[in-house]
Amino acid sequence: LYTGTIRVIDAEELHVAHNYHPLAVVIAKGEGVWVTDVEGKRYLDLLSAYSALNFGHRHPALLEAVNEQLERITLTSRAYHNDKLAGFASALARLCGKDLVLPMNTGAEAVETGIKVARAWAYRVKGVPQDAATVVVANGNFHGRTTTIVGFSDDPQARDDFGPYAPGFVSVPFGDAAAIEAAITPDTAAVLIEPIQGEAGVIVPPHGYLAAVREICTRNNVLLIADEIQSGLGRVGETFACDREDVVPDVYLLGKALGGGILPVSAVVADADVLGVIRPGEHGSTFGGNPLAAAVGLRVVELLETGELQRRAAALGLHLEERLGELVGHGVTAVRVAGLWAGVDIDPAVGTGRQVAERLLARGVLVKDTHGQTIRIAPPLVIRATELDWAVEQLRVVLAG
Ligand code: PLP
Repeated sequence: LYTGTIRVIDAEELHVAHNYHPLAVVIAKGEGVWVTDVEGKRYLDLLSAYSALNFGHRHPALLEAVNEQLERITLTSRAYHNDKLAGFASALARLCGKDLVLPMNTGAEAVETGIKVARAWAYRVKGVPQDAATVVVANGNFHGRTTTIVGFSDDPQARDDFGPYAPGFVSVPFGDAAAIEAAITPDTAAVLIEPIQGEAGVIVPPHGYLAAVREICTRNNVLLIADEIQSGLGRVGETFACDREDVVPDVYLLGKALGGGILPVSAVVADADVLGVIRPGEHGSTFGGNPLAAAVGLRVVELLETGELQRRAAALGLHLEERLGELVGHGVTAVRVAGLWAGVDIDPAVGTGRQVAERLLARGVLVKDTHGQTIRIAPPLVIRATELDWAVEQLRVVLAG
């Protein structure tokens, strides 16, 4: 390692809590799909900050929206109106085909908000007895790091030693619609799922699962909440992963790319008969809906409205699937691809996911391992086919040892 890199990492070790174990690279600059470290070495970014950078680093249209807004006003709090929120909310609601938007900041906040909305809807609309509401979730889920959310995770690393856990959640196997139906009772407020599980390793459920869950929720008067925080906003070659089965959830949870990789921007999006249950004073956020976030969020929606990025992700995704498929049996045991999003299971004979990520780093490619043997590939959607091919070639070389 170079001295500049070592110095920064040592300082971080001393003064930053060890809640992450980053790869040994210190990034100083980024543009499009490329980042540059403090030594001047360039890397192709295949993680996109867990899909928060779907538009790439420093997208000119997003920078323009931020810079314009920086000259005007950045924060008002929602004690007052600001002149940007309505435009953002109406554009996002239109993109989702829904009535209302509740703006928050991080993904976990959107999930927490979705749970609160579902519970309030259960008591005020569905007539569930007070404090009896349950939410059905899926095994292997990742919805964030707050105390309530980690309580219904089954990942020991996320959950252990952070109890006591909030009651009111029932977890069933992912991809099994019958298991969801069996878990539903008259007190069930919602089913909360990721349409494709991201952190679990890009786990794509069997085709027909989402449509079946939609039908089950409708028939049982239960809200379907789709956590599209990682899967949504173009990643899978559609605006939402639910679109793959023409499913419209009752509630969309959005985050990550909604802030264009510049600011934390998240949102709960639903129709008025659901989101309208929240009354003034019952929920909020100091920063949620701030004019700077709204300016970025509006530009993000505008980038998605044409459908061009989605089509690009779909076409390049097919190409990626073909190229990665060639690696199965050559250091890779399985590949799951949805649009420009792939989970690649590494043959233990070659090494761990972490070791493969380290070797790719040395060759100028950034990926992140998840759950031991899997690496996730999620490039910015603006990547070129030639860049994608180059990255897969680096992976082929690494796997060949
Ligand atoms: N939901 C899903 C599906 C996610 O992938 C994540 C983050 O990885 C979250 C929620 C939490 O988002 P945040 O880290 O912004 O709180």
